[in-house]
Amino acid sequence: MLCLSSSLTWGAEPPQNLFESYRFVDLAYPLNETNQYWPGDDYTGFELKTIATIEKDGVLSKALSLPEHLGTHIDAPNHFEPNRPDVSQLTPEQLFGPGIVIDISLRAEMDVDTMLTTEDIKKWEKKHGHIPEGAIVVLKTGWGRFWKNTVRYQNRDARGQLHFPSFSAEAATFLVEKRKVRGVGVDNLSIDRGISTDFAVHHIINKAEKFGLENVADLDKLPARGFQVLVAPMKIENGTGGPTRIWAMLPK
Ligand SMILES: [Zn+2]
Repeated sequence: MLCLSSSLTWGAEPPQNLFESYRFVDLAYPLNETNQYWPGDDYTGFELKTIATIEKDGVLSKALSLPEHLGTHIDAPNHFEPNRPDVSQLTPEQLFGPGIVIDISLRAEMDVDTMLTTEDIKKWEKKHGHIPEGAIVVLKTGWGRFWKNTVRYQNRDARGQLHFPSFSAEAATFLVEKRKVRGVGVDNLSIDRGISTDFAVHHIINKAEKFGLENVADLDKLPARGFQVLVAPMKIENGTGGPTRIWAMLPK
């Protein structure tokens, strides 16, 4: 009886308890017309149009248009693989999990095409401990500091080829098969490197019905581990991704 009544009390007042015990870091950039997005041929930028004003209509209201893969967003499993869940079908069990940050930003300063290797992951584990099952592993490449600068963020060479670091196919396979991650994320445009032509990491992640997070913000505010990640994408039916709020929940 005691047990039941205390769980009922908690159920009535969860926010107080939650914010007494945890602080939150918002890992999403605010959506606006300067947001970075995959430079695909038919992709257009962010648009927010006012369709009613308080002065004229007694209410302020706007209409929104944007590609699914703009700004801080999720890649749903159906993005690169057929017959996989769309973004609206992802559940809290798939989207909430322990967070891990692996930092390759120093190496990325010397080599913009560098990638996370299995060796890097094993080194990280030697220092910080085993990656728990169901983790959300976010790669820090240092690209966040170029967020407001499209030229630096895309980092094209003279031929127009993009150059930025990301996961290797080998590391993605290791994280999916050996560490059973919930999903992966990165602080730049893609979970595959800028020079990738086969998008192998996207295929590996999506085939396993896992998600990718791209343009994740403010990784400087996170420790290497010891926090939870709450991923909350827009619920677009048949969507292949979409704008996503991401919160890291850290014990106080
Ligand atoms: Zn995407």
